[in-house]
Amino acid sequence: MEKKYNVGIIGATGMVGQRFICLLANHPWFNIKVLAASPRSAGKPYCEAVGAKWCMDVDIPDSVKDIVVMNATDDVEKIASLVDFVFCAVDMKKDEIKYLEERYAKAECPVVSNNSAHRHTPDVPMVLPELNPEHTAIIPEQRKRLGTKRGFIAVKPNCSLQGYVPALFPVDKAGYTVKDVLVCTYQAISGAGKTFETWPEMVDNVIPFIGGEEEKSEKEPLKIWGSINGSVIEDSTRPNFTAQCLRVPVSNGHMGAVFVRFEDGKKPTKDEMLKIWQEYKGAPQKLNLPSAPKQFLNYFTEDNMPQTKLNRNLENGMAISIGRLREDTQFDYKFVCLSHNTLRGAAGGAVLLAELLCAEGYMD
Ligand code: NAP
Repeated sequence: MEKKYNVGIIGATGMVGQRFICLLANHPWFNIKVLAASPRSAGKPYCEAVGAKWCMDVDIPDSVKDIVVMNATDDVEKIASLVDFVFCAVDMKKDEIKYLEERYAKAECPVVSNNSAHRHTPDVPMVLPELNPEHTAIIPEQRKRLGTKRGFIAVKPNCSLQGYVPALFPVDKAGYTVKDVLVCTYQAISGAGKTFETWPEMVDNVIPFIGGEEEKSEKEPLKIWGSINGSVIEDSTRPNFTAQCLRVPVSNGHMGAVFVRFEDGKKPTKDEMLKIWQEYKGAPQKLNLPSAPKQFLNYFTEDNMPQTKLNRNLENGMAISIGRLREDTQFDYKFVCLSHNTLRGAAGGAVLLAELLCAEGYMD
C-alpha cells in the first residue's frame, strides 16, 4: 500500500482506545491524526487526559503524547475533515452511540466500530474478517440509505464469540452442518474496561453475570452466518446457540468451553476437524493484510492447553487457540477455545477489518 490513511480514534482514552494507540503507533498503512474522547478529556494533551488510566504494558508512544484530545461529540465535522476514517470505542448509551456513529458517517467519514450499537442494523456489516468478508458488499446499500458518497459504518462482533465462532464456522462451511452449540465463556476483566486496581472486587472472585453478554453471544453469530438479500443482511436461522458468560479474575483473554452437535448425526471425525482448523485461511491471510495472523486457528494437543496467560498473545493476540477436542456423552464434541479480548476481540479485530476495507477500496 503506497498511500497512508490518516485515522482518528474516538474513545482514545479508554481501554480499547489505548489498544488502538499501541496497534496504530507503527502501523504500515495508518497514521494516527486525531484522538478524541469525552468533554472531560477534550483540550488536554493525550498523556494528561489519559493519566493514570493508561494500563498497557508499554509506555504511551511518544508520537501521541502531546496530541491535544478533541471532543468526540462536539467536533464531528472538524474531525471528519482531518481524517480518512475513524475507529470508535466509547462508553456511552446505545442510542447516543448510534447517533454519534451516524453523524460521522454522514460527515463522509467511515466508522469502524467496536461498539454494539449498530451490530444489528441490517445494512451495517458485522465482520470477522476471516469468516464473512463478503458482507462488506452491503456498504453501497447503506450509503444509499445514509445519502453519503464515502461515509458508512462497519462493526466488529462482540469479544465473547471470537473463539467459538472462528472454530465452528469453517467446519460448518466444510459441509458439516452445525446444529446446536452450548458455550460457557470465562471472560477477562479488561472486557469491562477494568483492571484489578480499578475493580478490586474481582480479585479471588468469579461473578456469574455480564450484562447483555449472553444475548450477544447467542444472537451475533447468526448475523455472521447470515447472507445479503437486496439491501439488508438477513440473519441465519441456525445454528442454535445457548451461552452462559462468567467474569473471571484474569486481566486479558476470554476462554470458552464449547459443546457442539451436528445436523442429522453427520459429524466430522476428530482428524477431519483438526485438518479443517489447520488448513483454514480467510481473506486476511490470502490478502496478506498487515495484522493478519499467519495461522488463524491453532490446535494444542496437550491436555492442559491452551492457557489464558500462556497463549492469549499468540501472533500478537490475533490468533485463536483451541484444545481438548473430544467426543461428548450428550453432544457430538466438546472443546475449549481462547482469544485475546482487547486485541482479536476489540481493537485488533477492528484494525484488521479496516485493513480489509482499505484493500477492497471502501476507504478511498
Ligand atoms: P472505557 O475504558 O470505559 O473507555 C470509554 C471511552 O469512551 C473513553 O475514551 C471515554 O472518554 C469515552 N467516553 C465516555 N463518555 C463519552 C462521551 N459522553 N462522549 C465521548 N466519549 C466518551 O471502555 P472500553 O472498554 O474501551 O469500551 C469501549 C467500547 O468498546 C464499548 O462500547 C465496549 O462495549 C466496546 N468493547 C470493549 C471491549 C473490551 O474488551 N474492553 C471489547 C469489545 C468491545 P473519557 O476518558 O474522556 O471519559
